[in-house]
Amino acid sequence: MTAKRRQIWVFGDYRNYFQNRVTLQLLSRATDLARKIDAEVCAVVFGDKVDEWVGEYIAHGAEKIYRTDHPRLAAYGVETYTLLMERLVKREKPEIVLVGATAFGREFAPRLAKRLVTGLTADCIGLDINGEGLLVQMAPSFGGNLVAEIVTPERRPQMATVRPGTFQEIPHDYARTGEVVDVPMPRDLPADRVRLVQSERCPQRDQKLEDAKVVVCGGRGLGSKKKFAKLFELAELLGGEVGATRPAVYADWADHNALVGQAGKQIRPQILFCFGISGAIQFTAACNGAKFVIAVNKNPNAAMMKRADVAIVADASQFCAALIQEFKKRFRS
Ligand SMILES: Cc1cc2nc3c(=O)[nH]c(=O)nc-3n(C[C@H](O)[C@H](O)[C@H](O)COP(=O)(O)OP(=O)(O)OC[C@H]3O[C@@H](n4cnc5c(N)ncnc54)[C@H](O)[C@@H]3O)c2cc1C
Repeated sequence: MTAKRRQIWVFGDYRNYFQNRVTLQLLSRATDLARKIDAEVCAVVFGDKVDEWVGEYIAHGAEKIYRTDHPRLAAYGVETYTLLMERLVKREKPEIVLVGATAFGREFAPRLAKRLVTGLTADCIGLDINGEGLLVQMAPSFGGNLVAEIVTPERRPQMATVRPGTFQEIPHDYARTGEVVDVPMPRDLPADRVRLVQSERCPQRDQKLEDAKVVVCGGRGLGSKKKFAKLFELAELLGGEVGATRPAVYADWADHNALVGQAGKQIRPQILFCFGISGAIQFTAACNGAKFVIAVNKNPNAAMMKRADVAIVADASQFCAALIQEFKKRFRS
């Protein structure tokens, strides 16, 4: 009898575009990791009428899908989902379980890890395999001043939640095939104590920052909400999205959804503008994937200016207003 291949599982979190993207990004990274330990990449999909997602995950690299398709799973219920997953993990014994660090994943993964009596590294910004074949889970620690490399040498599975935008999804290939394992809905599941009464989707606009090709970010140096608002005009002209540092969000110049950084979103645009941003590690760690960085700061020695491909010493809001004028002129002519 041949030994069962080790497995890397990605939890299929497909409830909206944003959550689905992180699942695809994790499948991509799982594919890289699987090569290093000769493992099989699997996705787990719970829900009602989930064929679309099964196809999607196979197209993005899953070799095997564990699927439980049942009307009771139409709405996400943390108790039912955790119990189902706990039983499945105990039965199949995957080596690694990866979950997106979405609101959904952040609720679900710690409960699961507790039930399985294993470790969980939350909000990872990187994953790798070390020389001993263990999952290296990279996570900001000590107030974000260090990136800790955490391993789980004894317990299984090795579990991590990963921020959306950390990895890039591989292009879909609908010619790919995969094995689908149907996991029947158990009859003995207790009723969820929480009942979903109504759900409403967030507007799509708030969810595109991670995928935007152009991001216009603003920080405390802009000085006021009115001046910060100019960034939206610039972003609109460039077909981009607006991001903000923590002080800008705390000052209510921007919504929390716009927060870029350790406590916010991970971005990887082609062009990143940074207006009045000092370049603290808690911010820059989330935009290392940016291809070309333009920083505007009145202090030439700010860390952001050193990190930038183009560093402009100027007043941030005045420079932003001048850029808007210039772009408007060019787009009109
Ligand atoms: C656990 C933890 C998590 C954190 N998570 C995050 C996070 O997710 N995201 C985040 O952003 N921060 C985060 N922070 C905060 C982070 O450490 C910094 O304090 C923050 O990023 C600084 O934001 P800022 O650059 O807007 O402000 P500042 O550091 O105050 O910088 C303002 C910059 O504007 C420049 N400036 C001032 N006036 C002008 C002007 N008129 N024109 C041009 N430039 C001007 C200044 O020279 C300065 O460089 C976190 C901190 C901790 C401890």
